[in-house]
Amino acid sequence: MHVLLVTPPMTQLNTPYPATAYLTGFLRAHAGPLGVTVSQADASLALFLRLFSAPELERMAGVLETRSRRRNREPMPASIAQFLEHAPRYVATVEPVIRFLQGRDSSLALRIVGRELLPEGPRFAFLAQAAAAGDDPLAAAFGSLGTTDQARYLASLYVDDLADAWRDGIDPRFELARYGERLAASAPSFDPLEEALLGEPTLVDEALDEIARELIGEHRPAVVGLSVPFPGNVYGAFRMARAMRAAAPNAKLVLGGGWVNTELRALREPRVFDYFDYVTLDDGERPLLNLLARLEGRGAKLVRTYVRQDAGVTLETDPAQHDFAARDTGIPTYDGLRLTEYVSVLEMLNPMHRLWSDGRWNKITLAHGCYWKKCTFCDVSLDYIGRYDRPSTDVVMTRIRALIAETGQTGFHLVDEAAPPAGMRALAKRLLEERLSITWWGNIRFEKTFTPELCDLLARSGCVAVSGGLEVASDRLLALMKKGVTVAQVARVTRAFTDAGIMVHAYLMYGFPSETVQETVDALERVRQLFEAGCIQSAYWHRFSATAHSPIGLHPEQYGITLKPPPNIAFAHNDVAFEDPVGTDHDFLGFGLRKALYNYMHGAGLDADVRSWFDAPSKRPPRQRRAAVPRTTVAPDLIARALAE
Ligand code: SF4
Repeated sequence: MHVLLVTPPMTQLNTPYPATAYLTGFLRAHAGPLGVTVSQADASLALFLRLFSAPELERMAGVLETRSRRRNREPMPASIAQFLEHAPRYVATVEPVIRFLQGRDSSLALRIVGRELLPEGPRFAFLAQAAAAGDDPLAAAFGSLGTTDQARYLASLYVDDLADAWRDGIDPRFELARYGERLAASAPSFDPLEEALLGEPTLVDEALDEIARELIGEHRPAVVGLSVPFPGNVYGAFRMARAMRAAAPNAKLVLGGGWVNTELRALREPRVFDYFDYVTLDDGERPLLNLLARLEGRGAKLVRTYVRQDAGVTLETDPAQHDFAARDTGIPTYDGLRLTEYVSVLEMLNPMHRLWSDGRWNKITLAHGCYWKKCTFCDVSLDYIGRYDRPSTDVVMTRIRALIAETGQTGFHLVDEAAPPAGMRALAKRLLEERLSITWWGNIRFEKTFTPELCDLLARSGCVAVSGGLEVASDRLLALMKKGVTVAQVARVTRAFTDAGIMVHAYLMYGFPSETVQETVDALERVRQLFEAGCIQSAYWHRFSATAHSPIGLHPEQYGITLKPPPNIAFAHNDVAFEDPVGTDHDFLGFGLRKALYNYMHGAGLDADVRSWFDAPSKRPPRQRRAAVPRTTVAPDLIARALAE
């Protein structure tokens, strides 16, 4: 029996999403005795490469030109007008540019930075505006030496212009890192998704249908597993399943992955099974192995697997069966993925964002789940956070060596929810003892275990960056969210990382239950001081949302909020709407927070009163805006004093 594991579109383009690599390694280690063979494919990369090819751009130009003529050339979005005006140049340059972004034609850099080769659309407009104001952001970011980086940045803007044209002109659901996301994120009803699936196909749909049929022809699978990490992969997964079912009616189709694990826990919608035969919850290893054994006629019981029964949906599970321990899940393998074809875009000049979108990273975990598992906004009741299981450092080292041997790459991204400090220390020591040179980074909790001595050890072993949650930079709210850290402690820990030469990115949050305007302003002041003191180099504000499986979603009364009555949920369920009697206008504050952060990351505005960021364009009259944003109550030397302690 042959199993094909697929990542549906869209995910990041610079490196494979790891789920199929993990499952392929696992099945090759455990499913051989069943006579199972396994291959994997990244349909996200395949779709991108197809849409960004000369023939598909020609098709897009034809469709848009015909539509424009039919509408008597009435005004159109700037992205489409730009594309149509320069379509032959886009068609001529797209494939060389993609090869350049794949690292397969570096000589093109000199022509790209000459600014004559590529058509420059709306995404380049800010460069012209800056030039008119006497600024040169490219020179500021890359100097005179960074030709390749500068060319990659310009080529990425060019790709963004084309992605905008695909979205505005052909398929409003298409984006570079997500596809049809709104149809699936916390969607209580299946209707909008099915309507889209049954509607007139766009050129993007047709390309994806074609890719699905090609995969069936190439791999001839008896079973296809589609792993859906995010809402932005769901439409693509269902679309591919439909095309695959038509091409191979006897193949069994299985849906699983991170989105299923969080959002389909209350699945009641039988129409899902028009597309898939099985839907598995939580780690896929055990459910998939048992399902394959069942399909091979071994009489195995299903584990955490939804099936259609009569006109309804049943979750079949055998409580006697356990998940595999993290040490026994095998060695992840990228075998079968086209590693040389991934595309490194460079969209942000921020160095931490570059790590996410730039370069090929082998993905590895030090442990399953989170060792802390207490944060009240987090899905701690679900298996992927709540079941902590750390394999030995021997196992981790074996996997690292195997991935280096397979890929030739020594860059590793630890994809732990929060990497355990003990595991990081042990890994660093072994890397140094065995003189294995790798570059690695990952997500942590800013806890006090990270002393200057440990940070130094991590840096010497190849750790180059960490990210972690400072969330709302307020000790009252950090305690309410059971983060287990204080602002002063985060200042000392992040400074220790920075002093060791490890870049630090902080996840920030606003809109937490009971958060007042004063607390938001004070949190921004603390963040300002952290940037000023060189503790953090990069950060991002997330708007808080309550989720169904977090302590806040499960016990809202303990946080002073009331959940709004839920809709009738038959399909996806994750975010829950709530009322907060404090009534802070978080929408208004969010704009100022993001603007401040953008400037701080570029080293600008660090001496400005934090209130000034909230004087942004707003529908409110200026006096009301000023009145809504009070002066900070934080001492100007708060972080400096914390660091001196
Ligand atoms: S937010 Fe992070 S540290 Fe907190 S429980 Fe979740 S994974 Fe763990």
